[in-house]
Amino acid sequence: MRRSLLALAIVFTTSLALLPVASFAQEVGQPLVRLEVDGSPLVVGEDDRFELLVTLSEPAELRVRAVDFDGRTVRELFDGPRDTGVLKEGWFGRDAGGAWVARGPYRLVAAATAASDGRTERADAWVTVADRAVYPDAPGFITVAVDPGHGGDYDGAVGPDGTREADLNLDIGLRLARMLEGAGVNVVITRTEDANVNEPPEERTGDGIIDGDDELAARPDLANNARADLFLSIHNNTAVNRSVGGPSTFFFDERPFGSRNARLARVVQDEIVAALDETVGGAWEPYDHGTLIYPYYVLRGFDPPRLRRPTQMPGVLTEGMFLSNPRELALLQRPAIRAAMAVAYYDAVSKYLARRGDHVGYELVEGPSGPVAAAEPVSYQVQIRNQGNEAIRDWRLKVNAVAAPDRYVSRIRDAVTVGEVQIPQLKPGESRVLEVEVTPPEAGEWTLLFDARDRSGTRAAEMGSPMLQARLTVAEPVLEPSPSPATEG
Ligand SMILES: [Zn+2]
Repeated sequence: MRRSLLALAIVFTTSLALLPVASFAQEVGQPLVRLEVDGSPLVVGEDDRFELLVTLSEPAELRVRAVDFDGRTVRELFDGPRDTGVLKEGWFGRDAGGAWVARGPYRLVAAATAASDGRTERADAWVTVADRAVYPDAPGFITVAVDPGHGGDYDGAVGPDGTREADLNLDIGLRLARMLEGAGVNVVITRTEDANVNEPPEERTGDGIIDGDDELAARPDLANNARADLFLSIHNNTAVNRSVGGPSTFFFDERPFGSRNARLARVVQDEIVAALDETVGGAWEPYDHGTLIYPYYVLRGFDPPRLRRPTQMPGVLTEGMFLSNPRELALLQRPAIRAAMAVAYYDAVSKYLARRGDHVGYELVEGPSGPVAAAEPVSYQVQIRNQGNEAIRDWRLKVNAVAAPDRYVSRIRDAVTVGEVQIPQLKPGESRVLEVEVTPPEAGEWTLLFDARDRSGTRAAEMGSPMLQARLTVAEPVLEPSPSPATEG
């Protein structure tokens, strides 16, 4: 009796003692400073601002500022002591003198030093200042694949002073990625540091060796797996003749969406040329090589054995300037010039998407989680999104099954139609979750391809809308133990 009472007392004491410890732990877990920002992208010329909410969990010395991509403070927004609670601040995208900051990505940084113990914590958020939004109907529906060319073991062009094209491409690509993300767009970037893209090394082309082809193949693989809307490969150039200079943008026309490639190339090239012309100023003018057709690996179609999974979306490869040209190398070494090039890519994405025509996106919401039985219908929930500029009417979602040999299917042969459903009318930026009934084919490993068709039967994949793909295992039929033989006769 006594013993059990004691045991009870211990239990009580323990739990009572634990309570304040637990709540103390919660307080300790709270960050000193938190930052939330609304209003990105800030469109230059519109009377708008970034709204900042800075939350302090205890009194602190607080400094809030806007910093550019290169780490320079462009505007102090707050500097002084603050009590626990929320501080609301606004930034109009102007510097201390009232002038607009350059278009580009900015980091809003809140740094707090606690009055109690002097510890310093920071919170930050990237935002974008631009001339325009990207697909304002629903920027979150858009995914842009940014591919800084070369990297790691692959230098690309090298200037006479040792400047590597790989480093320049990466810098421009990171600026562009930050800017797009700040505009609410999803970015898949093939590399964020000076490293190979095919890392850890994987055999991707099927020839049994891991080499430069696999390094190239890793780039479309990333974009395709993300079902990106666009593919931008960022490069700079070199030539034997040191006087050769100027940007060029390559595309490949022999794709189902070749005319879209051409349009994207035109707008990227025009923006790069205009940005360099304006930013450099003076008597120098970029030589405009225009848009050029070339079957670069990341642009061309199915071409085995080296290329089995081509990019499934409109894409271009831009050669910005020449490292072999002393004037252009000096320009490329200026952060402001690389920043202007990133802004040009951003503007090109925005302008292209504003007029691109039809495009659909998909997301798999729900499907069977394990093997299914042949011929017994299963249900899939698929979100379908209008990412184009015109209303979708009388479209259908078709589901095909192909025997699955690879990480995804880029070329359809021997497909079996296993499901189909009408797509309701969708305005640009609208989405709907559809239920589609799929009748599994015979036992085996399959890939289901979800591909919309317009009213004339044109596949969305041919317009450059990457298909949704899902693996499906159809189990061997389980043989029922044969019932006791009925009397025959
Ligand atoms: Zn290159």
